[in-house]
Amino acid sequence: MFRQTIAERKLVKGIGLHTGRDCTMTFEPYDREGIYFLRTDIKDSKPIKAFVGNVSSTMRGTNLTYEGAEVHTVEHVLSACSALGITDILISMDGPEPPVMDGSSQEYSKVLILAGIKRLDKKVPVLTINKKIEMSENNVLYTAEPADKLTMTFLFVHTHPLVSRLEHTLEFSKDNYLKEIGPARTFGFVEELEFLKKHGLAKGGSTENAVVITKDGFSSPLRFEGEMVRHKILDMIGDFALTGCILDNMKIYARGGGHKFNVEFAKKLLKEGVING
Ligand SMILES: [Zn+2]
Repeated sequence: MFRQTIAERKLVKGIGLHTGRDCTMTFEPYDREGIYFLRTDIKDSKPIKAFVGNVSSTMRGTNLTYEGAEVHTVEHVLSACSALGITDILISMDGPEPPVMDGSSQEYSKVLILAGIKRLDKKVPVLTINKKIEMSENNVLYTAEPADKLTMTFLFVHTHPLVSRLEHTLEFSKDNYLKEIGPARTFGFVEELEFLKKHGLAKGGSTENAVVITKDGFSSPLRFEGEMVRHKILDMIGDFALTGCILDNMKIYARGGGHKFNVEFAKKLLKEGVING
């Protein structure tokens, strides 16, 4: 597999989910290996590589930091890049957090496809495994087993009767991602919103960019049955992009979990997996 960048600059604008701050985010072709974020609003700040070693927080989103500059909630943008096979790109931002758009990754994918995906003459490292890898804590379980292709299954369990048990399996490909996963929006429970806002999170969150789950329903019609669990897979793909590798030939299963566990599991895959290329 080859590294890929984009052919031309494209931008998106909007407010951040957690910070509520305006941001113009520009996707630019890049000649360094990796996905990098650059805070253009911070003087002399250095590009921040999307890598597990730069994760600064996984509270309700994945934040990265490098040499004093931080970017928040990078997982949806990373998810779109990963699904499209974009390995080398500079993502410039004039604020701390990407525009949330509609709460899914489909707007980013659209813009990146419009920018044109350009194959580079360099190989990308492919991460596979030759044994079962497992991680568990309380009710959360993550496993990866060798397989002939890449699949990702997520099981979402909750005490709320409307979303008590949701499961989805993605057979990973660009087309399947764009169809089954990319449009799935972020979500939250109505009773959590006050708590999140009190902790300075979800400031930009609204029913325009998130599905709010109330006692008896959803704030807007769902795009899919089980939209929430599909979004969990969207997040997982974004967080796994922090390996800096293309994952292949494994069956990934996650029961419960979120950004913290995604990042921990990405580290474990890097440590115990086999990297070629
Ligand atoms: Zn998300």
